Parts: sequence; structure tokens; C-alpha cells
Amino acid sequence: MPPKRPSKRRPYGAEHRPLDIDRATGGRRSESAADGEWVVQAIRSSDKPYICPACRQTIPPSTAHVVAWQTDAIGGPDAGLDFRRHWHSSCWQRRSRLR
Ligand SMILES: [Zn+2]
Repeated sequence: MPPKRPSKRRPYGAEHRPLDIDRATGGRRSESAADGEWVVQAIRSSDKPYICPACRQTIPPSTAHVVAWQTDAIGGPDAGLDFRRHWHSSCWQRRSRLR
């Protein structure tokens, strides 16, 4: 009988890569909008460009912006998280004012 391999094999110091959402601690807040409850997370910079849903312009990498997702989405908070969107900070603020 071959020896059993340990099931947990994470070498000491192995790089753990959390979601970019978790990388930035702090700067997360809840907001109530006309269309529901949102969590807004400030992102200092990202690894790739995103399209802002408000102005359809690219948010270049390494640009501070916000990512927002609905916490009362159909399917629950996890479903909302799956559909999170990246916004220009100014576009998100404009959205909040336009209700
Ligand atoms: Zn925008």
C-alpha cells in the first residue's frame, strides 16, 4: 500500500491571490439607491481595463475607480457579486445624484 500523501500541500510562503475585490481593504461602503442596495468598493488600481457602464468609456488599468454590486439582487448577494461592475468614481457619483 503506497503511503498516503498529505491532502494539504501549500508550501510555506506560497503566494495566495485573493480576488482583486479583497485586495483593497477599507473603502467599502453600502449605499441605498432607487434600484436597490449596493456595496461600493473603492479600487486603487486594477490589472486590466474595464468598461464603465455609465459612459461606456474604458477605465484604464492602474486607475482609481469603484466597483459596485447589488446586495439585494435576484439570487442573493453572491449573484449580485457575480454581476459587479466597475465604474469611474465620478460616474458612480453622478448616478447617485440622478435618482
Ligand atoms: Zn464612466
